Amino acid sequence: MTQLPMHETLPFDEATTPPRVSTGDLPMHAEIRQLVTDAYERYRGESSGSVADYIPVLAEASPDLFGIAVVGPWGRSFEIGDVAAQFSIQSVSKPFVFALVCDTLGYEEARLRLGVNSTGFPFNSLMAVELNAERTMNPLVNAGAIATTSLAPGATAEEKWTSIRERLSMFAGRELGINAEVYASESATNMRNQGIAHLLKSYERLYFDPDEATDVYTRQCSLDVTVHDLAVMAATLANGGVNPATGETVIRPGVCRRVLAVMSSAGLYELSGDWLYQVGVPGKSGVSGGIVTVAPGKGGLATYSPPLDAAGNSIRGQLATKYLAERLGLNLFASVPAEGSPPQF
Ligand code: GLN
Repeated sequence: MTQLPMHETLPFDEATTPPRVSTGDLPMHAEIRQLVTDAYERYRGESSGSVADYIPVLAEASPDLFGIAVVGPWGRSFEIGDVAAQFSIQSVSKPFVFALVCDTLGYEEARLRLGVNSTGFPFNSLMAVELNAERTMNPLVNAGAIATTSLAPGATAEEKWTSIRERLSMFAGRELGINAEVYASESATNMRNQGIAHLLKSYERLYFDPDEATDVYTRQCSLDVTVHDLAVMAATLANGGVNPATGETVIRPGVCRRVLAVMSSAGLYELSGDWLYQVGVPGKSGVSGGIVTVAPGKGGLATYSPPLDAAGNSIRGQLATKYLAERLGLNLFASVPAEGSPPQF
């Protein structure tokens, strides 16, 4: 076979060749601090949405709670608002448990057993399982997440729980503990998740006892975090799996990449397309009001505010994230910096 001549232009000499993955940096510290403050002031008065109440104890959360945290790749954090408030992690646990399972099984095996496509249905849909010929979902909706938990390392429910709690704690850089009240409240009312687990089991798409898998999943959702913890967890995914606060390697870079891919396509349930279009960065929301956003190579952003939209995504969190993603230059699809105020891509 004849070799075609290659025409290349070499803009850099060997010595100055930049790394092959370059996503740039966050702005200077003072600017980040100002933007985080602006986002908080701008949206703290927003009063639409309602606090989740299908898990009874969640309904007690104050709708006024609002916190924002940004953690850069060197572990420096910028935060404002209700940053000390503890809340149950809920669905924001899902990408991190998926990371653990990918790390254990390999990301290709994980894709085959769990699926990675967006369902287009609400997070707790049974219909989505029925309509997909493979009966797989994705790790970020309840069905796929319970299946993911069923694959966590360990032969018993207790061992699976320990491996999940330990790995999520490594992501956060501190020992995470369970919120007993939330765990009790959700355990008493999670018949729908039990139903999902049994349905998956009937299709051989659940890989452990369905009741025990649902219980471990419920515990995982009940882990207490602050908005700062979530930003550190997000920053660890942004940082190729190395926790920027502790320096510990939590997950391999190849796993990070796949987790971020699923967050991009499915992190905000049936509104994931709108999110990617408007924010342009992988994210994951949870019904207690947390949202994490990961800007690969740049850092993690987290928001906490309990009032939700109809899909179960925090309203102030989405607004603040969109505002910050534009101004911090996080959008993955931008090839040139945004200009003007507000920035225009
Ligand atoms: N534990 C919740 C549930 O399974 C998590 C849902 C969520 O945060 N979207 O219903």
